[in-house]
Amino acid sequence: METPLTGNIHPGREPFQIADYMKAGGYRAMRKSLSTMSPADVISVITKSKLRGRGGAGFPTGVKWSVVPSKETSPGPRYLVVNADEMEPGTFKDRLLLEGDPHQLIEAIIIAAYAIQANIAYIFLRGEYHLAARYLQQAIGEAEAQGYLGRNIVHSEFDLSIHVHTSGGRYICGEETALLTALEGKRAIPRAKPPFPQISGLLGRPTVVNNVETLCNVPHIINNGVDWFTKLGIGDDGGTKIYGASGHVRRPGAWELPLGTPLREIIEIHAGGMRDGYELRSVLPGGASTSFLMPCDLDVAMNYASVEKLGSRLGTGAVIILDQKTCPVGMIHNLEHFFAQESCGWCTPCREGLPWVERLLSAIEAGEGETDDLMVLEQHVGLLGPGRTFCAHAPGAMAPLASGLKYFRADFEQHIHEKHCPWS
Ligand code: NAD
Repeated sequence: METPLTGNIHPGREPFQIADYMKAGGYRAMRKSLSTMSPADVISVITKSKLRGRGGAGFPTGVKWSVVPSKETSPGPRYLVVNADEMEPGTFKDRLLLEGDPHQLIEAIIIAAYAIQANIAYIFLRGEYHLAARYLQQAIGEAEAQGYLGRNIVHSEFDLSIHVHTSGGRYICGEETALLTALEGKRAIPRAKPPFPQISGLLGRPTVVNNVETLCNVPHIINNGVDWFTKLGIGDDGGTKIYGASGHVRRPGAWELPLGTPLREIIEIHAGGMRDGYELRSVLPGGASTSFLMPCDLDVAMNYASVEKLGSRLGTGAVIILDQKTCPVGMIHNLEHFFAQESCGWCTPCREGLPWVERLLSAIEAGEGETDDLMVLEQHVGLLGPGRTFCAHAPGAMAPLASGLKYFRADFEQHIHEKHCPWS
């Protein structure tokens, strides 16, 4: 299909230079927004498009922007922060956008910052994304030289500077309030919400935090209109989504597809199906912090509501596949090891609970588990669930565990009774 977000999401290619980007219609949406639309007009178009956050939570972008108080009611600085701290296991969609077409993001930032009247934007970038950092700096320099950043952009009286901040490297920095705390130079711990960052964010000022993929839709919506965007999706959610697939499929990768593409199509067509000798056993549909789906769920439309109806979440759309040759207990142990290691330690249930979960899983996988361990794990699913911790980290970590205990109970019990991992 034609790729409306970017024609270049393949790793290893040179990114678009500003001249190429402009030849392909780049910065037209920025000119249109700043020259012919008011900030309120831009917010209205994005709200009508029903663009939802592509970082994982799916919150409506236009609504998020419209919560920012006006300059009249809240004079002083306000900020746009791009969440490019992509650390969800299995997820690498934003890296492809950053490395493939950095000007698309720069143009999107200018439009979004104009909409909320922010004169400073930060790109909070995953520390390991060295190539993206270089390409972004280069793109920012080109845009500045062209007069698209700096003072009085295209004679609109709107000023904007963009700064790239590379992360110190913790998963929690992707949680928006911890990200803002880190950007302030402090230890990356989350803050209570509300107040949401749109009211009190970076340095206590109104701040919008948007994911890279979310923003990259914005210039295309401005250029092509709400109807065009809405019709790109299948079902209720408009637009496209960059889905990924990893595991023992023939062609692991990422593809920009209509939002709502069936999970089966992603796995069997785009990822080429399972490799010879491997059978699909289960799927995490949207990164490590989502719940397992089973083969009977493969016809689900990969949109927010349909995946939620099955008890999971669309998350980042990064599909992680479990096959019959991989131990589910080992896989869940591996994930919980990651989550335990990445707990920021701020709230007690998460700091103490996740390492305990990890220890129990480690023992079960090593054949040293007790029957009661499954009950204790189930208790932890409740103790670390939604509303019990300061942020979404521990509840996210419990999603694969809770669904794993449901679907792979017999495998857990077999480890305990036989006192070894049947896959080892
Ligand atoms: P959340 O639902 O609390 O918030 C999502 C966004 O909506 C935030 O920007 C928040 O400020 C805004 N929001 C929510 N309610 C609001 C309201 N009433 N008024 C105004 N704004 C509101 O979710 P979260 O904790 O920010 O994110 C969790 C998601 O992050 C998970 O779905 C997970 O899949 C995803 N995630 C992604 C990565 C990655 O690398 N991309 C990593 C970890 C987690």
